[in-house]
Amino acid sequence: MKKLLIDMDDVICDDGFMSIVNEFLGTNYKPEDAHSYYINDLIPKEKFDDWVKYFEERNVYDYGSMKKDAREVIEKLNKVYETYIITAYVFRDKPEISGDQLRNKFNYLRKNLPFVAPSQYIFISNKALVDGDIRIDDRVSNLEGKAEMKLLINAYHNRDISDEELAKKNIKRVDNWKEIEEILL
Ligand SMILES: [Mg+2]
Repeated sequence: MKKLLIDMDDVICDDGFMSIVNEFLGTNYKPEDAHSYYINDLIPKEKFDDWVKYFEERNVYDYGSMKKDAREVIEKLNKVYETYIITAYVFRDKPEISGDQLRNKFNYLRKNLPFVAPSQYIFISNKALVDGDIRIDDRVSNLEGKAEMKLLINAYHNRDISDEELAKKNIKRVDNWKEIEEILL
């Protein structure tokens, strides 16, 4: 079986972080309003301490939704590939609370992808430490590790990366889980 590494945030689930930021700021930002990968960079400096406290008391996965077709396609992939969910969990703004983040991720995966065993979860920071045959992520820097196939799922922060640049890195852009299903199954 080939080893398949699937990222979690913005690949399996969506929008939770942006919803918390909007609730905190009383704004109506859309993902495309983010200046960078880090949506929290939208928060003014003077509100940052309050923001961290606000985030700390919430579970980002209560706010988001699962991407369309993700569950169905991952269930099928799990039968054909040695599948792992590989996800970073350190909260940049306050690393000390990352344990809560880890627990929230674990519980979300247990509940929403019950056919993926906990032994198939990889909680990590540098994903390149893990080798795989196929990688799916929304971040180019997370696709740097070994793999014969690398799929970049469209997200607000990667839209400006050109196809040429991706081709140089052997990365193929995909838009949704149906497309991933067509490629991998
Ligand atoms: Mg991600």
